[in-house]
Amino acid sequence: MLGYVYVAPGRFALQERPVPTVVDARDAVVRVTLGSICTSDLHIKHGSVPRAVPGIIVGHEMVGVVEQVGAEVRTVRPGDRVTVNVETFCGECFFCRRGFVNNCTDPHGGWALGCRIDGGQAEYVRVPYADSGLNRIPDGVSDEQALFVGDILATGFWAARISEIKPDDTVLIIGAGPTGICTLLCAQLHGPQCIIVCEKSPERAAFVRRHYPGVEVVSPEECLPTIRRRCERGGADVVLEVAGSDDSFRLAWECARPNAVVTVVALYDKPQVLPLPEMYGKNLTFKTGGVDGCDCAEILDLIAAGRIDTTPLITHRYALDDIEEAYRIFENRLDGVIKVAITARR
Ligand SMILES: [Zn+2]
Ligand SMILES: [Zn+2]
Repeated sequence: MLGYVYVAPGRFALQERPVPTVVDARDAVVRVTLGSICTSDLHIKHGSVPRAVPGIIVGHEMVGVVEQVGAEVRTVRPGDRVTVNVETFCGECFFCRRGFVNNCTDPHGGWALGCRIDGGQAEYVRVPYADSGLNRIPDGVSDEQALFVGDILATGFWAARISEIKPDDTVLIIGAGPTGICTLLCAQLHGPQCIIVCEKSPERAAFVRRHYPGVEVVSPEECLPTIRRRCERGGADVVLEVAGSDDSFRLAWECARPNAVVTVVALYDKPQVLPLPEMYGKNLTFKTGGVDGCDCAEILDLIAAGRIDTTPLITHRYALDDIEEAYRIFENRLDGVIKVAITARR
């Protein structure tokens, strides 16, 4: 089969690989019917994920059809259409039982697929702990509708869930990249009175305005003055920081009202400063919300019910054979790209 391989820092290549098989009784092998490229794949390519293992097939956002299961797999069968969770987790340890699957203590747990073990930018992928790593796609939900469930949509869902959004809240979301937009869609499920999105790219700001007309979009320069003018409580009630740029962390807590929740979803290149003397008395609650994909079944039900639709994020489609070109477009943010879908081999 074809797989897109992390050869060495700076170099990915399309290579011929053997089709994976079940190794452990809890494994499943999934035929990938649709995949995507995530910013984390680019982090691997640029050598900024030290635990990424050269020689592995990359890709951790995909859906497919179960081809083969190990003897102990209970929840899926060959022929089932499934989403694949970016996190590998045992489902049994202290953290898994509490929904903190991102912190699974199993040696194979955490972000393994497409990082430490072969991932899904390939024709087939072996998924360990298939009972927790796979979710059946409801009938009537397409591959494109389900594509982001296991990674960026799970991230947005978790972030919105821990942010304690209430109906009369003004919610500020900083960053309208793919994860920021997923966070926006999930924040909307909580029905806040007002959502303001801060985005520096005019192209992405226009995308949000076009698809989500009820949302106000501001540039980073306009953000603090707009929040001060609009929010009578001195700032946003909830801030979700999804940008991870040089000054977005500062912007996040500056825009928060006293006693607000500030949820940090972003992944930063550098340490951030928490200037406690400056924020003394503001009594903020900071939460960090890296992907914790424990809600995939609920997300799929919401998609089936028409309450979440991430399909507008798919701006480009390429066959696996043409994945090099897909990376070129995604990596250089060409042609208004938000997300690329990688379809099966031509
Ligand atoms: Zn990802
Ligand atoms: Zn676990």
